[in-house]
Amino acid sequence: MDNERREEAVTILRKAGFRATEPRLLVLSFLQNAKYPVSIQEIVAGMGNKSIHQVTVYRILHALKHAGIVTQVDFRHGRSYYELRDEQHDHHHIVCVKCGRVEDFVGCDYERLAAKALKQARGFATIVSHSLELFGMCNTCSKRKVRAA
Ligand SMILES: [Zn+2]
Ligand SMILES: [Zn+2]
Ligand SMILES: [Zn+2]
Repeated sequence: MDNERREEAVTILRKAGFRATEPRLLVLSFLQNAKYPVSIQEIVAGMGNKSIHQVTVYRILHALKHAGIVTQVDFRHGRSYYELRDEQHDHHHIVCVKCGRVEDFVGCDYERLAAKALKQARGFATIVSHSLELFGMCNTCSKRKVRAA
């Protein structure tokens, strides 16, 4: 972990009221380096010789999620995926149902959708957050399917 990244991770943790412990720093910097959401198993595997137990990683992610630092994503793989919350861009993911390839997209038009939802759901006063993933087939997998057919 380079020093700049480490400093950044320490700042993020302290701002949220966490002590910057080594396991928290390791998990956070792993998320900082990840291009797409990662599973707990991937995080554990990515720790190399600095082994952190799966349960510890889970607890850290759970706490970071509640602090609003980390977002949990459901790719319907039977496990959860996690990424750092991007405060600037409200982005979502398209997931390939065959190979699991992930790409980001922006422009979900959340405000309009929330307003529309509130108009219909009479029992709700506010919308506080949203999650949205799209599922499809990537170029490679859809070519393969055509060839097999
Ligand atoms: Zn993402
Ligand atoms: Zn694919
Ligand atoms: Zn959105």
